Amino acid sequence: MNLQSGIQKIKKAFQVSADVPMKQYTRFKVGGPADLLALPENRQELLAILAAAKNASVPVTVVGGGSNLLVSDQGIRGLVVVTTHLASEIRSEKGPDSTILVCTDAGERLSAVCRYTVAHGLTGLEFCAGIPGTMGGAVMMNAGTASQGICKKIHCLDILDLDTLAVKTVTKQDLVFTYRRLELTNHLILGTVLALIPGDPETVKKSFDINMKHKQNTQPMNLPSAGCFFKNPDPESSAGKLIQDAGLKGAFCGDARVSEIHANYIVNCGSATCQEILALATRIQKTVFDRYGIMLETEVQVTGNRGEKNE
Ligand SMILES: Cc1cc2nc3c(=O)[nH]c(=O)nc-3n(C[C@H](O)[C@H](O)[C@H](O)COP(=O)(O)OP(=O)(O)OC[C@H]3O[C@@H](n4cnc5c(N)ncnc54)[C@H](O)[C@@H]3O)c2cc1C
Repeated sequence: MNLQSGIQKIKKAFQVSADVPMKQYTRFKVGGPADLLALPENRQELLAILAAAKNASVPVTVVGGGSNLLVSDQGIRGLVVVTTHLASEIRSEKGPDSTILVCTDAGERLSAVCRYTVAHGLTGLEFCAGIPGTMGGAVMMNAGTASQGICKKIHCLDILDLDTLAVKTVTKQDLVFTYRRLELTNHLILGTVLALIPGDPETVKKSFDINMKHKQNTQPMNLPSAGCFFKNPDPESSAGKLIQDAGLKGAFCGDARVSEIHANYIVNCGSATCQEILALATRIQKTVFDRYGIMLETEVQVTGNRGEKNE
């Protein structure tokens, strides 16, 4: 079955939208159309549409909050599954070694989980203050700060194999995390369980508020972006400082601009395209390499097609 007939088949059988601009689903506000976009509300709906996509050989792209994504101007061929409606109540229960296990669906907002932990006086997630996106995306990206990632807090995950559609629970010991990445290909994270520690509610709130304020004061939170664009080359060296020292603050290509507040942020000042953002990113990489001999690697996940829609 070719892609177009597969797409028509899914369109007929499911409530999906066609030709949806991905800029509506990314924090960068950039990206061309997805052939099909689904927002499943529960695991049954999710599994049904994934099974149909598999039978029709339609490629699947998973999107959470879209806060670390740069989608090409040509969009995404096949089916985009957005997980943000896969979110039921946040639950907690007693775990091993005096921990409290906080259980969520993948589409739950990390900010909602942070608020839950503050309300329940649980310590461990304060460093996540202000990080946008879903729990699935946070785990996939090992979200965090320069000194820590969410991987340290994971107890177990429910994951779905996108080839076989089998669901299994994996514990922290089964998982390999690297800097800003969980090494897990072709899987969708369905649910996350974090192990946190009971703490003093006031101290937890104070620390959360301090981290939030620091983030708001040092990062451009009000303009569309995907957070830090490049990975830090090593724990001692910050990509933002290298970019700033290379004199690139304020550099631009069209509406894509290096933030004046934090040089590792590329912000969309209006109607930036993916092409403009990538051109600016290449200029940054070249300038930093020429000056310091360091090739910056992108942290932002660049996805989608580069050719025309019918190629
Ligand atoms: C203003 C701003 C500030 C930020 N600050 C930080 C920060 O301080 N620290 C930090 O680490 N990041 C930061 N980020 C980046 C981003 O918020 C994190 O990477 C976030 O965890 C991504 O979650 P998401 O749901 O938006 O994922 P998305 O952007 O939707 O997806 C990211 C990747 O994860 C995959 N994915 C998403 N959900 C699932 C799932 N359920 N199963 C399998 N794969 C999945 C996607 O396919 C994609 O490859 C920031 C971004 C912005 C816009």
